[in-house]
Amino acid sequence: MNFVVKNTTRWGLLDLLCPHSCRGCGVLGAVLCDRCKNYIIQNQKDICPYCRRTFGRHSTQQSLLPGNDNLDLRVCHDCDSTFKGFWVVGWREGMLAKLVSELKYQSVRACADTLTELLDQSIPRPIFEEREVILIPLPTIGKHIRSRGLDHTKLLAKKLANRRGWKMQTLLRRANDTVQVGTNATKRVAQASKAYELSYATINPNSYYILLDDVWTTGASMQAAASVLKQAGAKYIYATIVEIGRLKNIDNEADVEP
Ligand SMILES: [Zn+2]
Ligand SMILES: [Zn+2]
Repeated sequence: MNFVVKNTTRWGLLDLLCPHSCRGCGVLGAVLCDRCKNYIIQNQKDICPYCRRTFGRHSTQQSLLPGNDNLDLRVCHDCDSTFKGFWVVGWREGMLAKLVSELKYQSVRACADTLTELLDQSIPRPIFEEREVILIPLPTIGKHIRSRGLDHTKLLAKKLANRRGWKMQTLLRRANDTVQVGTNATKRVAQASKAYELSYATINPNSYYILLDDVWTTGASMQAAASVLKQAGAKYIYATIVEIGRLKNIDNEADVEP
């Protein structure tokens, strides 16, 4: 007798046989247990991506009150930025770094759901209600997608867009496939400035564009992507990032290429 095993059943069985363990404390059940997840959420801060100073979470909260149409949500007014708002889940370390690395390099898809939930928690709500929001994943190098078998930023963007009722568009594509790893910060900025182009020319100046990437180190890639959108006419450009490197690590770490 033949049994037809549905894919979902198979995954369900696999989960029972090899349950995930929490990347924070090791408890069995999920890639991140509720306790560790809440720890990350409760310790979230606004971090300026340039000077890396931290501020209380959503220090721009007053601009989010109903009726206030101030759309400039920058956390740090000492640093110039193309982004009108920047939201990050946390520093690139510990359990957060493990989750990102396993999603990206080992294609552990369960990490994507958890990271999406954390991203969702880090982005304020009222400002984006009743507006057209377009989430754009920073394009991954084609060679990397093929070797890893997964486009991790696109997956996160899809999941986050579903969760918030936004559109996800692959509005940017890579103009070249230069790998940044191993070069110094100055060279990386120069390379990144030519890295992206619009994949189709439909920018609505009244839409809200949120660029998504997993890691911010020098920020060269995200800045380059934001410049392309700005030159094409986008006025409201924001950024959402899973993890940000501490300033002292920038020159020692590869600017992890999307
Ligand atoms: Zn845990
Ligand atoms: Zn700053």
